[in-house]
Amino acid sequence: MENSEVIVIGAGFAGLTAARELSRGGHTTILLEAKDRIAGRTHLEEHLGRNLELGGTWVHWTQPYVWAEMGRYGIKALPGPEFTKAFWTVDGQRHQGSADSLLELLDGPNRLLLAAARRYFPLPWSPLNNAEVADIDELTLSDAIEQLNLQEDQRQLLRSFWTLNFNGRLDQAAYTQALRWCAVASGDWQLMFEACASFKIDGGTRRLAEAILADSTSELRLNQVVASIEQDHERVLVTTKAGKQYKARQVILALPLSVLNDIDIQPALSPGKREAAARGQAGRGAKLWIKVDGRQERFVAFGPETAALNFVQAEYIDEDTTTLVCFGPDAGAVDVADVPAAQRHLDAIVPGLKVLDVAGHDWVADEHARSTWPMHYAGYLTRYLAELQQPEGRIGLAGSDIANGWGGFIDGAIESGLDAARQAASALGNDARSPLQAPAIVG
Ligand SMILES: Cc1cc2nc3c(=O)[nH]c(=O)nc-3n(C[C@H](O)[C@H](O)[C@H](O)COP(=O)(O)OP(=O)(O)OC[C@H]3O[C@@H](n4cnc5c(N)ncnc54)[C@H](O)[C@@H]3O)c2cc1C
Repeated sequence: MENSEVIVIGAGFAGLTAARELSRGGHTTILLEAKDRIAGRTHLEEHLGRNLELGGTWVHWTQPYVWAEMGRYGIKALPGPEFTKAFWTVDGQRHQGSADSLLELLDGPNRLLLAAARRYFPLPWSPLNNAEVADIDELTLSDAIEQLNLQEDQRQLLRSFWTLNFNGRLDQAAYTQALRWCAVASGDWQLMFEACASFKIDGGTRRLAEAILADSTSELRLNQVVASIEQDHERVLVTTKAGKQYKARQVILALPLSVLNDIDIQPALSPGKREAAARGQAGRGAKLWIKVDGRQERFVAFGPETAALNFVQAEYIDEDTTTLVCFGPDAGAVDVADVPAAQRHLDAIVPGLKVLDVAGHDWVADEHARSTWPMHYAGYLTRYLAELQQPEGRIGLAGSDIANGWGGFIDGAIESGLDAARQAASALGNDARSPLQAPAIVG
């Protein structure tokens, strides 16, 4: 059995950050990861002739935690393409115009929808400090949009825009999450949109993840699927699916919320935590890369909210081919390896493109993710967030799913990893000061 002061479970950005902080703070730390690689729901891999981000990608200077990490390791941001052309489909009719005209169409409806963002979230990184939030937290984004009484074309376009942002259906999505996104972007929806899909990490997410790992003295153990955790007043025992055991004084569970209940934790986590994990997240859609023939114009396209792919963006424009990044609300409707299906999905929203090849990863089918980016169901914020952030004995949680600020983003994962590390370090300090609770770590 291996012993350490801390075990961090999950080597996504939250776990990597927590492990770095604790190990650099002088605590022996083991980082256990189920997969054969680090970086979790970000994954840079070679496909379609270039390195593609299959998961999380875009970062922005309004995202303080990820931006600071990039600065710390001397990693720059790369701008994406500036779009010139746009397609959008409303009432079954395809429209075409400039990218600016599409933004204009979205502008009025988004301003209406998000007007109260700073009122409800005056301190965006303290999302629960305004009691009024409880009054609207059960409202779905779908209902919030319907209450605006928009013109039909604006209504459909706004619904498709937010289906993209949620990577899932709007009828259960939390309106408060949309307000929170806008509030962390200082109440400016266009800045929020820019933050979501404009600037990438030079060298990719893998480069930043590797930089954090290299700066850590924690011991990384890959291919360790944690199956059970047992804690008593002196220590925590962690057992993997293969039967390997680890012992520590503090454990950080840096896992996607949707997989938390897969681990047998004794004594059981609180009912609130288990209920939140059973519910999971609303982000259950698809991200698909499609390579098409020919050098295309720099375009974006919105389809109907129910389309298999409801958003397409021309991301890499080469001499003879163009590589598109596409999103849809239902992972079950998109086979990330099916070229003819991709052709059909694309034909439905952009005319005249010939699909050559596709690439992607089904994060919802992935047993170590079970969701894409963590977007909340209505009610999540006031029912579960504070509860999920609360440690239980020697076990604390971390992850973008439970971040205060840019929850759902890489930034939120880093923020949460820092918080969890600080709490664990403080608990270790209390242990050391208490003679009755002196560490009893024996093999
Ligand atoms: C398709 C997609 C697009 C996205 N786009 C963006 C974007 O453009 N910008 C942005 O900022 N964010 C984006 N995100 C979100 C961002 O990637 C995530 O919010 C963030 O990476 C989550 O980090 P995390 O550490 O909280 O969790 P994760 O990255 O999910 O890390 C959790 C780790 O736990 C491991 N694990 C799970 N179960 C076990 C177990 N039993 N034992 C041991 N280990 C286990 C997993 O393998 C994983 O490595 C996107 C995500 C997806 C999927």
